Amino acid sequence: MEKLLIINSGSSSLKFKLLVMPEEKELADGLVDRIGIAGSKIKIKYGDGKKYEQAEEIPDHQVAVDRLTFLLKDLGIVQELTEITGVGHRVVAGGEYFKGSVVVDDEVIKHIDEIADMAPLHNPANLMGIKAFKKILPDAFAVASFDTAFHQTMPAVNYMYSTPYEWYQDYSVRRYGAHGISHQYVSQLAADKLGKPVTDLKLITCHLGAGSSICAVKGGKSFDISMGFTPLTGLTMATRSGDVDPSLLGYIMEKLNINSMDEMLDILNHKSGLLGVSGISSDMRDLLEAKESGDKRASLAVDIFVKNVVKYIGEYIAEMGGVDGIVFTAGIGENSSPVRQLIMDRLAYLGIKYDAAKNDENFDGVISTPESQVAVLRLATNEELMIARDIMKLKAEA
Ligand code: ADP
Repeated sequence: MEKLLIINSGSSSLKFKLLVMPEEKELADGLVDRIGIAGSKIKIKYGDGKKYEQAEEIPDHQVAVDRLTFLLKDLGIVQELTEITGVGHRVVAGGEYFKGSVVVDDEVIKHIDEIADMAPLHNPANLMGIKAFKKILPDAFAVASFDTAFHQTMPAVNYMYSTPYEWYQDYSVRRYGAHGISHQYVSQLAADKLGKPVTDLKLITCHLGAGSSICAVKGGKSFDISMGFTPLTGLTMATRSGDVDPSLLGYIMEKLNINSMDEMLDILNHKSGLLGVSGISSDMRDLLEAKESGDKRASLAVDIFVKNVVKYIGEYIAEMGGVDGIVFTAGIGENSSPVRQLIMDRLAYLGIKYDAAKNDENFDGVISTPESQVAVLRLATNEELMIARDIMKLKAEA
């Protein structure tokens, strides 16, 4: 039995799960929020429904990690920190260096740092988490899992942009995608639920959360992904614009007197998407409610989101030459039966038929009917479990 701590270290938050492997049992799950910002908070769920919640000052990631490990012991979740034999770190950008999870060493740290430009909000924060845990759990087996790694199997025709080829050769400009850990996890799970080897299937996995992406998974490998060089492109997201014409950047920068590209990208990352269109909220739940009460912009935001999903599904069916199964996962994909319904209704042309009761109750598994010509599944993603499995594999090989 091994206790593995899985870390998702963001710029101002640190999420974690403690798992027992190979039993795949969750011991604790929590979050240190607002690191370095007024109003920091630690929340931990553990045991059978126990909760710890405390507001306290957390100036940086090292303090967050110190407090978290102290609490794991203090709350009796572990007796000794040495029980934690492995730590898995979720890293957003792996560039072309990482095609799978790796054991953390100095070289790995150097590469994550080197490609920080590709995920300036995420990679530096991921590294802070890695370094902080190295100090406090120096003997634990440390692994880095990359959101881009699964997509390294894409063929050049799908990852190359139609920009000067030298940009790729000299500066690694290409599509990297993201959410790979989730797309890989749910595609394997979908194959299990369908009782077929993943290598025999053409799947389209829709990770619809605050950040959203759609992946064409052909024979168990990522074939195409809606996110691009960074996670800004593809679908309309909670606050990210998704695909836009790059020419509009210069135009609007001039109109609004925006002087820096950082400021421009901040608007596309944080003030666009569902929030930008609706003007009221980035949360799909609020928009569905506002749509019901006749709010036209909320309704438009939902319609654009649905259209985007339908568009990418159509594109990937064309690219793969068919589809066996469509998977919905993440915050919206798992929990919003109205959004799934809107999407599935638009896909009736594919011969998709779904069980309305299963869709309404967020059934875990296949929600299409036996007559449906394409299977539709609603599956809970579990990126932490995927990382824990990778740690076990790498430990066995070490
Ligand atoms: P991330 O991991 O990208 O932060 P999640 O996958 O946790 O995001 O998804 C969060 C999003 O899921 C929220 O922005 C919210 O809009 C959406 N969401 C959660 N529950 C529901 C629900 N019942 N109906 C519609 N949307 C939901």
